[in-house]
Amino acid sequence: MIRFDNSYARMPQGFFARVDPTPVTAPSLLALNGPLADRLGLDRDALTVEMLSGNAVPQGAAPLAQAYAGHQFGGFVPQLGDGRAVLLGEIVAPDGARFDIQLKGSGPTPFSRRGDGRAWMGPVLREYLVSEFMAAMGVPTTRALAAVATGDQVWREQGGLPGAVLTRVAASHIRVGTFQYFAVRDRKDALAALTDHVIARHYPDADGPLALLDRVVAAQAETIAQWMALGFIHGVMNTDNMAISGETIDYGPCAFMDVYHPDTVFSSIDRQGRYAWANQPQIAVWNLAQFATCLIPLMGEEEAAVEAATTAVHRFAPLYQAAWLRRFGDKLGIDGAANQSLIESLLQMMAEQRADFTRVFAGLSDGTARDEFADPAAFDTWARDWQALSPDTTVMVRANPRHIPRNHRVEQAIASAVAGDMAPFERLFDAITHPRDLRTDWADLAQAPTPAQAVRQTFC
Ligand code: AMP
Ligand code: MG
Ligand code: MG
Repeated sequence: MIRFDNSYARMPQGFFARVDPTPVTAPSLLALNGPLADRLGLDRDALTVEMLSGNAVPQGAAPLAQAYAGHQFGGFVPQLGDGRAVLLGEIVAPDGARFDIQLKGSGPTPFSRRGDGRAWMGPVLREYLVSEFMAAMGVPTTRALAAVATGDQVWREQGGLPGAVLTRVAASHIRVGTFQYFAVRDRKDALAALTDHVIARHYPDADGPLALLDRVVAAQAETIAQWMALGFIHGVMNTDNMAISGETIDYGPCAFMDVYHPDTVFSSIDRQGRYAWANQPQIAVWNLAQFATCLIPLMGEEEAAVEAATTAVHRFAPLYQAAWLRRFGDKLGIDGAANQSLIESLLQMMAEQRADFTRVFAGLSDGTARDEFADPAAFDTWARDWQALSPDTTVMVRANPRHIPRNHRVEQAIASAVAGDMAPFERLFDAITHPRDLRTDWADLAQAPTPAQAVRQTFC
């Protein structure tokens, strides 16, 4: 039995639509995250395939689709909402932390618009792998509790594909877009209720909307700096995909860079490169400014509120800069703040020589980094200055993964899963959830793709 405590279901009229998951034909388990179930205090026997597919609604759940709005690629859409997900409910883990349990790909909702409410195995398994890697590296993120195949076909551009449902766990699914939904409707009462809910749930020591804004700015600055330090490109940083909790959410066309270049973009729908790797901090500021705009009506006299909110959003830059220097300093085992130019010159050399991001940093602690450069002499010159700082190997080993969910490996795991073989997925999952381990039987997984293997575009 799962003990639910559904606080969002107690929010006022208009926050959500009650909707049950739509049953599927022949559910079968693809993956179950046992250690996460344990961390959440969930009895593994209660996590039946019927529940994880949406075919049975567990006792105490109050399934609903959340309403939200959002800026998609800069254009405002006043109504989005959970179009292919239902929140089953919330649970409180043994340590007191509250989590949403959501089924993604569970059928249409009143927010589906023209969509089918479904997901296929590809994006479900990609999110499973990437989100669990992020968790293993200590990045704030939603988690993947389970993936099931539905036995039904899902129709996409590529044709008919096997359907799947992901069970996603999050501190909450409340987004910048949730605030925008009520702001655009001038529902100050609802904004106040949402603000109170979010403060109680995520930032209990914040004493009002301005303090909330401060906390969210700080949380996002830390999270985005961690993305940058892993070469992660979210791909769809729309305001509806930015969580108030600071967790990374909505793994769609996301990807990690192989070869380092700051302009890297993978998403097939991001034609302008709006969400390129190097743009992510600026986009975060833009999104936070939209969040601030929603909160201003709750902050008293308007002129003063605008000024305070602006100051709060501007705090992102120094917080992010400090976090970035700390993260990249750790990657080099040195004091980042005191050695900014050394970090930047390495990155510049990596971009010029098209070096592999993950392999360079992982290779710094075992002497193999120079092999990643076409011109190792330039690297050797840099490395002399770096070695002179006596880098701390323990710090470096912690900061730099050897195993990341590289695109070509994720695609291979998905193709095998579609063909009925979960072994490559399981092996990759094992490696990326032990991302720092140097194991000879995982040597192939630590390799960069050959030019023929490299994946240059991702789809959502
Ligand atoms: P995303 O780009 O994943 O953030 O999704 C943007 C919006 O489209 C959200 O409101 C989703 O719920 C909705 N959406 C995406 N895919 C589907 C689908 N297959 N069926 C219904 N709604 C969808
Ligand atoms: Mg989304
Ligand atoms: Mg998505």
